[in-house]
Amino acid sequence: MREPEQERPAAGEEGGFSRDPLSERARQLQAVSELGFVALAHPVFREFTGRAARVVAEALDVDVVTIDELLDDGGLLSRDGVGLGGAGEAGERVESGTESLAAYTIARATPVITGDMIEDPRFDVRRSFREAGLRSAVSVAVGPERNPWGILIGATRRPRTFTGDDVSFMRSVANLLEAVRRAEETERELQRLADALEQASDAIISIDSTYAIRRWNLGAESVFELAASDAVGRTIDQINLATRQPEEVSAQIKEAVRTVLATGRGYHYDTQRHHGDGQVLDLAVDVTPWRINGRTEGVTAVLRDITTRKQAEQAQARLAAIVDASDDAIIGKTLAGEITSWNPAAERIYGYSAEEAVGRDISLVVPAARREELGQIMASVQRGVPVTRLETERLSRDGRAIEVSVSVSPVRDADGRLVGAATVAREIGERREAERAREEMLQSLADSQRLAMLGSWTWAPRTTQITWSAQMYAIFDRDPSDGPIGGEELMALIHPDDRQLLTDVHAEATAGRRLLEVDCRLLRPAGVIRHVHVLAYADPHRPNRYLGTVQDVTEQRRAEQERAELLSARVRAESANRAKSDFLARMSHELRTPLNSIMGFAQLLELEGLEPHQQQSLDLVLRAARHLLELINEVLDLARVESGRLSVSPEAVELESAVREAVELVAPLAAERGVGLRVDPSGLSGHRYVNADRNRLNQVLLNLLSNAIKYNRPRGHVEVAFEVTPERMRLLVADDGIGIPGEQLSKLFEPFERLGAEQTEVEGTGLGLALSKALLEAMQGSISAVSRGGEGSTFTVELQRSEPPEMAPGDHPPQAPLAPASGVPTRVVLYIEDNIANLTLVDQILQRYFPGRLISAIQGRLGLDLAREHRPDLVLLDVHLPDMSGFDVLQQLRADESTRGIPVVMLTADGNAGRAADAQRLGADAFLTKPIDVRSFIDVVGRHLGRGAT
Ligand code: ADP
Repeated sequence: MREPEQERPAAGEEGGFSRDPLSERARQLQAVSELGFVALAHPVFREFTGRAARVVAEALDVDVVTIDELLDDGGLLSRDGVGLGGAGEAGERVESGTESLAAYTIARATPVITGDMIEDPRFDVRRSFREAGLRSAVSVAVGPERNPWGILIGATRRPRTFTGDDVSFMRSVANLLEAVRRAEETERELQRLADALEQASDAIISIDSTYAIRRWNLGAESVFELAASDAVGRTIDQINLATRQPEEVSAQIKEAVRTVLATGRGYHYDTQRHHGDGQVLDLAVDVTPWRINGRTEGVTAVLRDITTRKQAEQAQARLAAIVDASDDAIIGKTLAGEITSWNPAAERIYGYSAEEAVGRDISLVVPAARREELGQIMASVQRGVPVTRLETERLSRDGRAIEVSVSVSPVRDADGRLVGAATVAREIGERREAERAREEMLQSLADSQRLAMLGSWTWAPRTTQITWSAQMYAIFDRDPSDGPIGGEELMALIHPDDRQLLTDVHAEATAGRRLLEVDCRLLRPAGVIRHVHVLAYADPHRPNRYLGTVQDVTEQRRAEQERAELLSARVRAESANRAKSDFLARMSHELRTPLNSIMGFAQLLELEGLEPHQQQSLDLVLRAARHLLELINEVLDLARVESGRLSVSPEAVELESAVREAVELVAPLAAERGVGLRVDPSGLSGHRYVNADRNRLNQVLLNLLSNAIKYNRPRGHVEVAFEVTPERMRLLVADDGIGIPGEQLSKLFEPFERLGAEQTEVEGTGLGLALSKALLEAMQGSISAVSRGGEGSTFTVELQRSEPPEMAPGDHPPQAPLAPASGVPTRVVLYIEDNIANLTLVDQILQRYFPGRLISAIQGRLGLDLAREHRPDLVLLDVHLPDMSGFDVLQQLRADESTRGIPVVMLTADGNAGRAADAQRLGADAFLTKPIDVRSFIDVVGRHLGRGAT
């Protein structure tokens, strides 16, 4: 502190009053110590100021003392004073300018002494001082040095000086003023603190080292349900701290007190207290040492009720667990849309991790087209209005659109202020999908039940509850609005003859809880009877419940019956067909045999050289016989086709050459009738092969060509042309003959239809075209005809195209070499045949053309013996023998060393082309069909005997 600022006292007034400095000083010290004692004993500022003012006035010997307080606006408030009379009463505002002694003192921060304040240029004199006639003064600031709060002034009317001691004294008084004021403030503070502690909702307890309660506030009263008057002064053991576990609670506290007393450090624990009304309080307990002069005298325990906090924490944890486990995306966001929380389901649905999403704007997952809607949602939430189950679309991280149902709720804080929003989004794409799948399944179940005419039902005997599927009503012809029926009512609808059966099966089934399966009849309105198949079994998933089905099998029954009838009809038809063709085959064989004699002998006669009229008769016999033969052959073929026994062996056949062969065969007929024959191969355009049976195709071609010639007119024409399609080849046989009338065309391919030709001279059987059609169809081909009525007809044959054959025709393995016949003087022929007429015919032919020896056998076995015995030059072998087949004989001949080389010519009345191939395969040298053509027969025999026909 600087030295006090001292002003010389005014001249002439110096030493007007003498004082003894020593005694002065002693008085001042005395006054200060007395004042100090008061300050200690009774630090009440309001009372202390007056005392201090009086002590200063007396000890400093001044007329006026003022104690003023500085106001915030720079003005002064009088706190106390002596000597001013009415002016400057305590509590009044002091009239003093900004340039006052007080302001000057405080601004200088050092005591100020003035000898004549009226004349002093440093400051103005306040009005009350001037009016009181004050001249000399000493002034000190009161309060902390840097921050004084008041001013103490002593002043005299007479001019005088103030010594350093005076200033020290004033300072001491100022310090005491400050101390008292501070003490009072501290006391007030402490009181406030004590009050606060007392009123605190926390329980605050002080316990001394003897475990006696020293302090027990209101909070403690309510926590422990015990008044302070019943607690203070007693030990912990003397009061009941808990309703439920008193020992445990007091043990806990004692343990805490012991620990704190021993260590001198704080101690914390959480505990619970059960209230009398059953409420449980969660308490956090802080125990701290309570020290007096550095010694731990006891402890202060603060018990805070954390029940609500605990509950909130638990609720929070539960909520967090629910949010985490939820399948729905749960997202927290601010009112501005910033994401604040993001649960695992949100991660899964949207593909962003919580780390990536939190802090971003919610528009992260909102497609551009839904931004406006988002704006509306946020606006609604900002108004505090939730949005519920809005079905909309969101965007996943990988750009996928997700269908969601969104609910957004406003979130409020404890004071009810809106602070954010919570969004729950549920994926509904999958749900929709599942719903759709379920609907589809139900629909397909209903459809299949309807198609299968199958109804399903359930029946719970206890509750008599019955359910029917829609189809049940259809089966029972019952209105669905009438509901399902069971028991007696249902039984009444069962055919009376089936009721017992149903009852029996039902009893059996329920006894053994087995499957019930029964067929019975239903009586429906209007006398309609339906057959149903009933299935029932115990519901494996629900006790006391049965499930089952009822299937209307009426149509099935009918169909089964029809099928059975059809089957037996077919079996009958097939066997009839077989019988027919067997009959025809036998018949034709039987017819051929006599025909062989007729034709054979007629031809022999012809070779005799007859009279002209005899020759004419013989011609008629032969023509009739040939016609009969043709008829037999065709009927037989047709019978075979119809019974499915005609076998075709398709191969690649070169169509043009097949046509040319057939044309060559009919050329004599054409020449005879004056009809021109032409083949135009241009339509083939390089394609050659069709898939056909060579012999059967030849048969068809001959039929078509001979018809075209037969039903033609003189100088008519027949032309064969070709057409090729990607898969087939067409052969067109066109003539410009008599044509076929339109109405007849439909009957063209029917057997025995000659369409009026029977009235003409043209010979025919009416079977050719029917057979051709059947043969072509057996070869996967077809035939059709068009006619320009009277201007000729065109027959079109269609066959499948074929790749060229693997092996060129003519590459067949060479036939077995002929046995040399030349050089043998007498030829021996063995004829194995059971028909005497045939034997006679052949015998006559051979005698005439090949003189030699004919040995005959009417049985196969005998024939074999004769062959081995006589080693004939030729064997003629019939296929049908009484004891064995001609083929077997042939095989044995070829198997035997001695007979292997003998040429064999087979003969048959069978007329089956397939047989010729069999014969060749087994080693026959030739195969002739009966009735024999005598010329060909002579030719064949001649070749195999090594001599030409004569
Ligand atoms: P048919 O043995 O009578 O010739 P088809 O079955 O071969 O028996 O022919 C049946 C009938 O179709 C013949 O009788 C004839 O009336 C008629 N027909 C067949 N081909 C021709 C044709 N090219 N021109 C006119 N009529 C034909």
